[in-house]
Amino acid sequence: MRFGSAVPATFSTTGQLQSLSGHDSIHAPIVYGGGLFIIRRKHKEIVMDGGCVLCNDHDQQVLWRDELCRVIWVNDPDYPGFCRVILNRHVAEMTDLPAQERDWLMEVVFAVEHEVRDTLNPDKINLASLGNMVPHVHWHVIPRWRNDRHFPGSIWSAPQNDNPQLPVTADMIERLKQRLQQLAP
Ligand SMILES: [Zn+2]
Repeated sequence: MRFGSAVPATFSTTGQLQSLSGHDSIHAPIVYGGGLFIIRRKHKEIVMDGGCVLCNDHDQQVLWRDELCRVIWVNDPDYPGFCRVILNRHVAEMTDLPAQERDWLMEVVFAVEHEVRDTLNPDKINLASLGNMVPHVHWHVIPRWRNDRHFPGSIWSAPQNDNPQLPVTADMIERLKQRLQQLAP
């Protein structure tokens, strides 16, 4: 881990952390190298989880979960099969995670993608990790069709099709939900 000017932190001569990302009230002992990374992680987890919708949304339809993450059903009528893989704890970036956790999280994302493809046979999968409004690691797994509501843009773009007819049946959706509940990444 690099310690250099790219890290937005300043320190006093006594080694106290004076400011980090604009929060002047945070004080922590200075630690060089990887230690600063840990301070930043702790800082983010402490400061940012207060109003986070992913930490506080108890109405999520959770299909599968383990110690690290959970798979939820988004229930978007325009995008049947749309799932999210959400880290259980409040962390902003993939690079805040230890490599083992990153790898496992992506294994889960790919396992979800596999089940969505296998049951719904979409024309394309969109994987997205944005989080500008919700800086809590989560991956969108979105099945896309050439005649869906936003084709060819992202699902957050302006709609292009007011009456999409998708080749997805209730049976296919039920099969996907059952498979996700038994996910084995
Ligand atoms: Zn959160």
